[in-house]
This record gives sequence, C-alpha cells and structure tokens, in this order.
Amino acid sequence: MDSQTYMNFHGILLYRKNFKENDMLVKFLTAEAGKKMFFIRGARKRGFKMMADILPFTYGTYSGKINAENLSYIYSGLDTDHYENISEDIFLNAYATYIMSLVDVAFPDSTPIPHWFNQLFAALRLIDNGVDPEVITNICEIQLLGEFGVQPELRGCAICGRTDLNFDYSEAYGGLICQNHFHLDANRLHLDQKTIYYLRRFSIIDLNKLGNVNVNDNTKQNLRMLLDKIYSDSVGIHLKSKSFLDQMNDLRL
Ligand SMILES: [Zn+2]
Repeated sequence: MDSQTYMNFHGILLYRKNFKENDMLVKFLTAEAGKKMFFIRGARKRGFKMMADILPFTYGTYSGKINAENLSYIYSGLDTDHYENISEDIFLNAYATYIMSLVDVAFPDSTPIPHWFNQLFAALRLIDNGVDPEVITNICEIQLLGEFGVQPELRGCAICGRTDLNFDYSEAYGGLICQNHFHLDANRLHLDQKTIYYLRRFSIIDLNKLGNVNVNDNTKQNLRMLLDKIYSDSVGIHLKSKSFLDQMNDLRL
C-alpha cells in the first residue's frame, strides 16, 4: 500500500477516545489495512454528520484516506450498521469490549488480518444475536493464544501424542497430557473430561459456521478458570476490559 490511499474500506469500530476539544480518535479493524487509528475532526460537535457512523459497536463500509503510518481519515460512512443488542446491554457490551481489546493487543497496527476480521465480525454478530457471550469469548481467547506466542498442544498428549485416553491440562508441558503421564506433573489442573472436550472443540471451531452452543455453568466456570490461568501465567496480559468484565460478573452473582 502507498503511504496514502483513498479507498472504500470495511471496518469494525474497536474503540474511540476524545481528542482535543471537539475531535475524536477512533480505532477500527479494517478488512483491507488491519487496525488503523482515524482522526475524526469535529466528531464531538453537536449535529456532526457522521455521528451514527462512529457510534460504539458500529461496523460497515466507509470511504476515507488510509495512511500507512500516520492517522487516517474517514470522509463518509457508506453503509454502516451497529450491534443493537450489544449497545443496549451492559453485559454484552463488556464481553464485546473485552474481545475487541484482545484482538487489538494480539496484532500490530497496519497489518491486514483478514481471518481475524472475519472471526471478530462473526463473534460480535453471534453475541448480538443472543448466542452465549461466555462461549464466544472463550473461543476467541483460545484461538488467539497462538498470536500471543502460546500454542498449547490440544490435539493429543503433549508427551506421547495419544488421543484415546483421559486428558488433563499441564502448564508445565504446554497443553494436554494423557492419564499415563499424569504422574509427571503434580501441578496438573485436574480438569474434568467435559471441560477438556470443549477446550479442544473451541480451539478448532469456525465462528462463521457456529450456530447456537450450550455449555453448562459448571463447565463454563472451569473454562473461565483455565483461560484466566493461561492468560495470567503464560500470556501475561491483564486487560482493563477483562477486569471490568470480571467485576460485572461478580456483581451479577
Ligand atoms: Zn501421554
């Protein structure tokens, strides 16, 4: 891409922040140019013409000028829409925000990530359509692990490769270990087989093809515990949006 390109692009709004008195910086994941920060002049003025095009949880087609390195610009929203249910529900809002911030930290700016553009688009659509946001969040978390340099072995035992025995998760061995090797890791996580089943399934599921999926509360709790442990111990990130989501869920109990 040249240093400046006038083009139409597909974007999913990741976040916005106020800038100076009247303006806004809005970050989009674009299909064509990856994550880009846009400078929107006058975005906070009353009656701003693109107000609806840059609301939180908006996606669509825009025309603008994409700069390779500096801030980019939007001239107009051509065909935009927003995730109504996510916008209106503070819990869905928190899940969607966390997923978007994960995608944001997982990839560098200005690098096209068409696969994750599609996955994020599907994830938000599913949450907006009422599919369990905890499940969608877990799927994104598991599938993003590789981008953080953590690629747990989930196909079979990390030690012997067997796939036909009971498994547990071992942080020391970086993935599943089979029951023949449980004795090698005293700190294995003692997960039940149902949790292991969903962990493996979620690692390969295509969000674009996912219908509804029902996971019981106990399994969801175990998956949450496991992913919190992996993200804390192996990935080593602690996102504000995740703390906020945790606080929201604590309030709900
Ligand atoms: Zn084994």
